[in-house]
Amino acid sequence: MSDAYVVPPERCASCGARDLTRLPMVLTDGTDVLFVSCQVCEGREWLTESDGQWVSLSIDTVIQRSARRT
Ligand SMILES: [Zn+2]
Repeated sequence: MSDAYVVPPERCASCGARDLTRLPMVLTDGTDVLFVSCQVCEGREWLTESDGQWVSLSIDTVIQRSARRT
């Protein structure tokens, strides 16, 4: 199972730094996500809210949901 958070994480999941950039985004399929980028280790994470919890999305899921239909 993926990690779940009640609130968006304050710390980087990889290195624990608090210096995070948070950027709300909407994927091509309409999914609301929060893009979290670490200033220290350049770790990136995409979170989506589900049933009141923030759930980490895999990069494969993000790419799939961001793909434009051709
Ligand atoms: Zn980090």
